[in-house]
Formats: sequence, C-alpha cells, structure tokens
Amino acid sequence: MNAPAEFVPAVFVPAVLAPAVREAALRLGDVPAYLYDLAALDAHAASVRRALPGVELYYAVKANPDPELLRVLEPHVDGFEVSSAGEHAHVAALFPGKPLALAGPGKTDAELRLPHHRIHVESPNELRRLLATGLAADVLLRINPGLPVEGAALTMSGPFGMDEEGVAECLPLFSGRVRLRGLHAHLASGLDAPQLLRLAERLLDTPHDEVNLGGGMAVSYSASSPASSSASSSGLGPVFDWAGYGRGLAGLRRAGQRVRIEPGRALTAYCGSYVTRVVDVKRVRGEVFAIVRGGTHHLRTPAAKGHDQPFAVLPTGDGPGAEGEPVTFVGQLCTPKDVFARKIVTSVRVGDTVVFAMAGAYAWNISHHDFLMHPHPGFHYLRG
Ligand SMILES: *Cc1c(COP(=O)(O)O)cnc(C)c1O
Repeated sequence: MNAPAEFVPAVFVPAVLAPAVREAALRLGDVPAYLYDLAALDAHAASVRRALPGVELYYAVKANPDPELLRVLEPHVDGFEVSSAGEHAHVAALFPGKPLALAGPGKTDAELRLPHHRIHVESPNELRRLLATGLAADVLLRINPGLPVEGAALTMSGPFGMDEEGVAECLPLFSGRVRLRGLHAHLASGLDAPQLLRLAERLLDTPHDEVNLGGGMAVSYSASSPASSSASSSGLGPVFDWAGYGRGLAGLRRAGQRVRIEPGRALTAYCGSYVTRVVDVKRVRGEVFAIVRGGTHHLRTPAAKGHDQPFAVLPTGDGPGAEGEPVTFVGQLCTPKDVFARKIVTSVRVGDTVVFAMAGAYAWNISHHDFLMHPHPGFHYLRG
C-alpha cells in the first residue's frame, strides 16, 4: 500500500488509488463524476502495444467511445473496430483515414455501404447483400467454430458468425471487387492468456493469410491476494498477461500470416473511476446500507456483470456512519438492483467520498442514463 495512512482505513480491496486519482477525486466539487486517468491509459496502451510485436492491434470502440480516450489510444493502435454506423461516423470524424474494421450482427444496407479497411461478415445472406451493393469490400468471415471455451465470462455462441456450413456457403459467392481476406473470430470474453492462446492455436491453423482473433482479454474486478499483487500495479486483481500472449502469438503465427486482435475492456477498464459521495448510511433489519449520489444508471457494470465494483472510501465526511462492518453500497434509483457492492467490510460515514475503480469500460456507455431523471455525472480527465 502506498496510499497515505489517513486514506486507507475504509477501503474495500487494497484499492490503492493512484495518488493523482485520489487527489483529483478529493478536489472534485460536484459529484457524481467520472474521472479518467489519461496518463495511465497512455502508459497502459503503450505497454500492450510493446507486448505484441508483429500483431495488429485494434481497439473495440464499443467498450468506451469517449473521444478523449480514443485520442489517447489512437497512436498506439493500428485501427478501430466499429460495430454500428454511429461508431463508424464517430471514429471516422475523429481520425480520418484510420483503418476501421466494420463489425456487428444485423448490419443494415446503409452500414454495408460504409467505407472500411475490413468488414466482418456474419452470415451468407449478409454477404449476398454486401455483393448487391456493387461496392468494393475486404471481407473477413466471422466464424463460430463451436470450440470449447472453458472459464469464459460470456460466450459468443448463438447468433454470432457462421458455422462450417455457413462459411462453405459463402466461399463460392466471392467475386469481383468483394474480396475474401480471411477469418474473424471473437469467441468469448473474460479469457486469460493461456486460454486465448489455446483458441488461437486452433484458429490460426488455417490456410487463410489473415486472421482477426477478436478481443475478450480478461479483466479481474476482484481483489488480488497479496501473493499475486506483482501481477498488477493497481492493487486489484491480476491483469491480463500481455507479454505472455504476445510471445505465444509470435510462436503460433505462420510466416506471412497477418494476425490482428481487437480488445476493448482490457484496454480501457482500468483508466476510469466513478466518484461520488455518501448521502445516507442506514441500518435496515440489521443490514447496513450506504446510499450514494448517482447509481447504476451511471455505472451499470456491477449490475450487468453481477459483481462487487471495487472501490475506496475517502473519509471526507463527518456524518453518522458505520465502523468496520459489512456495508452494502447502493445508489439513488428506486430499484433493488441499484447495487454497487454487497456486504463489504468497511467504515463509511455520510459525506465520505467513494471512488469506484475500474469504471473505464462498459460503464457509462452501457448505462440507462435517464432512468429517474437524475442529473448526468460530470466528466474529468487527468492528463498527468
Ligand atoms: C465486444 C467485442 C470485442 C471486444 O471485447 P472485449 O471483451 O471488450 O475485449 C471485440 N470484438 C468483437 C466482435 C466484439 O463484439
């Protein structure tokens, strides 16, 4: 722990906030607010890039399309994966000429006409509609190979991509300016490097010269044990082993084979915090609740994933509170689902500042912002 002692007693997880984040959180007037550590994002993206020699790195924009984050990521990535006309317009306006991989199930005819570096075709019918546009296209066929994926947080089986029959149906359709470049696969999320490498071994064993292996690199939202803290400078769970993944891919890649990945969460999750303040601490039938400004309509991640969002309590309050006992942190929404973290042993008082960490991906942008019509949070960017 390198946090000053006065900020440590009331923390769940050794959520050691970077000093800059802690200081900025304490300086914030109006909360709730998102705080993005752009300097940390820059350093993280640079280290990911360094770990992947010879592999093309795209960022999956749906994880967080905030332009400030995209501007930091842009120099470190070869391109962006966009999954809608909206994301396409957003990224193309920010970075004219940057390679875009156009993806997403259920593309409309208008989306099929968008300029791209690659388009990930999801079905034989989609390929027929693409051909009918008469436009040039560079296609990766998205495959759904039914490989076993143990231990995934979320498996992209079901409607995504094509099985072997779908691919076989597509192959004879290619003609003229619609070119088959290779394969795309995004099989699951929440996989560690050895799991992803086992899949990559199967996916790269193909005559195709270009393969996009997708994203899904694991992000752990739970506390690390002291023994594993070397894996992470954040004090949170182990971070994805980018160096091991890069070494593994280098070994699996055939000479002349173009390999691309498109992580989202594992690039931006760490750089965001949601900062708020405790408005009430109460005891109901023996359970202690801390009610904070805002809620999961701003930070839906813990509700969506069913986890406890890691946080730190900064003791800025002098109101009534609880001392070293299990506390459930909830927001202002009138629903029992508005829970950030359950029964975490901590100390908390009315007026304390709560910093929810790891709120940089699938957080604000997946949340139901206008439910109950509370004000939107502020957005602040630390540039180091
Ligand atoms: C969501 C998505 C990604 C990014 O996934 P992460 O788990 O955020 O890394 C990459 N590719 C496709 C096709 C996706 O749908």
